[in-house]
Amino acid sequence: MNKKIISCAICGAETTREQNCNLPLTPEELALAAFEAYKAGAAIIHLHVRDEKGIATQDLDLFKKTIGLIKEKCDVIIEVTTGGAVGMTDDERLEVVSLNPEMASLDCGTMNFGDEYIVNTLPTMRKFAIAMKERGIRPTLECFDLSHVYAAQMLVKEGLVEEPFHFSFVLNVPGGVRYDVETLDMMIRRIPLGCDWTVIGVGGRASLDAHYGALALGGHIRVGFEDNVYYSKGVLAESNAQLVERAVRIIREAGFEPATPEDVRKHLKLRGGES
Ligand code: ZN
Repeated sequence: MNKKIISCAICGAETTREQNCNLPLTPEELALAAFEAYKAGAAIIHLHVRDEKGIATQDLDLFKKTIGLIKEKCDVIIEVTTGGAVGMTDDERLEVVSLNPEMASLDCGTMNFGDEYIVNTLPTMRKFAIAMKERGIRPTLECFDLSHVYAAQMLVKEGLVEEPFHFSFVLNVPGGVRYDVETLDMMIRRIPLGCDWTVIGVGGRASLDAHYGALALGGHIRVGFEDNVYYSKGVLAESNAQLVERAVRIIREAGFEPATPEDVRKHLKLRGGES
């Protein structure tokens, strides 16, 4: 596919209104942000939800309501988080796959997350991979570290994840691997040839650098307030859509076109989103 996939992570688990007052939090706000990101050129929405206090939750009803509102507006692909937030149990994180989204994130190892940490043992990862495989959900194999790249391939070898594989390299989380193009290059050289991959640079500078790194090395782009709340140094982004619009411009300047949700459904052999 000679097109570039834009994923948009519209709110995440940790970003706050204090960091950016334009952060969408309620189901209605999330649905509007998703729709605007889709109109701007995003094919995939990476989705977390928040409770009435704005705290990250894996509450099934909130996911259901938000996904329903997004689907009323557009046919963008929804990738739910199973990373959840720091401190959640495996079962709590995994329950959202029962809503049969087309895609879900699958964290491929334990990592520092600022002063906290998130635990993903191999048995946890296997449980998540099996649940997704049984439901025909395409996992995004999120690798925060080189060891995660190898752990992901253990799942592949055990037959728990099927082709086409979709990797995501998450770099610059505080306490994790920094983003730089050499590190990214080293990681992509260790995944099976021809796989699709996306790169996430956390923080303003790394996020933008990662767009260019992805295009130079053959990957896809993720934007959104989960990863970065700034448009440029010291200037907050007005919306997720504003970040998508820039990604579209960068993609076109590089001689590519942004992929539509239908392109991605075909390319990643998604189920089609019935739920
Ligand atoms: Zn996330």
